[in-house]
Amino acid sequence: MTAELQHTLAKSAGFSGTSLHTGEKVTLKLQPAPVDHGIKFKRKDLADEPTIDANIANLKTVERATTIGEGAVRVHTVEHVLSALSAMGVDNAVIEMDANEPPIGDGSAAPYVEVIKKAGTAAQEAPRRFFDVREPIHLESKSGSLLVLLPDDKFRVSCTQAGPNNRFTQFFSAEISPALYEREIAPARTFVYYEEVAPLMEKNLIKGGSLENAIVVRGDAVLSKEPLRFADEFARHKILDIIGDIALIGTRIRGHIIAVKPGHAANAELARAIVKQHAKVMALSVPRTFPPGEGGLDINQVMEILPHRFPFLMVDRILGFEGETKCTGMKAVTVNEPFFAGHFPGHPVMPGVLQIEAMAQVASILLMKLAKSASRIGYFMSADDVKFRKPVFPGDTLFIHAELTKARSNRLAKAHCSCVVNDAIVSEGDLMFTFLDK
Ligand SMILES: [Zn+2]
Repeated sequence: MTAELQHTLAKSAGFSGTSLHTGEKVTLKLQPAPVDHGIKFKRKDLADEPTIDANIANLKTVERATTIGEGAVRVHTVEHVLSALSAMGVDNAVIEMDANEPPIGDGSAAPYVEVIKKAGTAAQEAPRRFFDVREPIHLESKSGSLLVLLPDDKFRVSCTQAGPNNRFTQFFSAEISPALYEREIAPARTFVYYEEVAPLMEKNLIKGGSLENAIVVRGDAVLSKEPLRFADEFARHKILDIIGDIALIGTRIRGHIIAVKPGHAANAELARAIVKQHAKVMALSVPRTFPPGEGGLDINQVMEILPHRFPFLMVDRILGFEGETKCTGMKAVTVNEPFFAGHFPGHPVMPGVLQIEAMAQVASILLMKLAKSASRIGYFMSADDVKFRKPVFPGDTLFIHAELTKARSNRLAKAHCSCVVNDAIVSEGDLMFTFLDK
């Protein structure tokens, strides 16, 4: 199986710095975590060291930075570290901190990329989870943000940024890979408009803020300790923030985010819309009714044709035939399947060979119907061009398609077969059969 695997950190690594809002010293440490753990923050400075799941359900506030929390515990300004972990391909990690905010560093994600590279990443024994965009999502906020999410094979982000009165209008677009992120996105620093931060500075709300960790735009002037790192640094930093905020959905995306004047509030709204579409797709993709009769076969009729029995019967029902050459069956894959106990404990995945067996059984039923005789039986001889495209998990409904592509003499037949889950082909292959008298 060639599914993309989940990754964690190879070892722990960390760094210290100043927190933006309190101006105090904070030490952050990234720790490896097991499969399906996701990203969690751990407050080492509090009694019992509570953890907070980096999940959109825990989102608290989105003013200037993204804050998440569980119960009374909060973590502020989570977007830069989450952005780096997501873009650098870390699916599972614990972010330990001895304060309520990660170190701001130089206002970019470069220090986090550095610490991730210091730790290294390691593949784990479970496939990555993806959200494949099916229907475009379109959001417009009162503050003038516009976000569109379109289907795409890869994860891409395009951003148009514009300041007050459209000053400093910039555009950047890229397919996000770890190498591109490290080079083109991570170094882009936070920028603020003087008129927005001046009141905060007066109230002493950004004690750690300085020209060392933010670019300040005042009128047409750009103030910062070092010159701009990119002519379009602002648009790139907005993409950095989008990746971090969207990471709160907990899965990777195959889609293209097109953002105009984005902000944390709009990003969070998009994350919520994605989670909603994901839930809807999952619900709709499992048919709730199956036509009785109508040319299908129920489990008893299937068992009259196939000699297989539990646990080797891989077809629950034949949904129907199309002419003489096509047939669709289904199998509900439950966590009670005996193979899940050993394949693999802790992260069950349906073995690929059993998907082939399911295809062979559906194809046999098709051939049996074609032969119009119960006195001959089709034997599965070989399988060519077999591909396993996606993992099959407990709870999935497998739709098994068989199409007869060749019936040579009365002895040999070939069928192209595929297994489909949630409208995506999870496995396919060409199966050869020979007929023998019983
Ligand atoms: Zn930011």
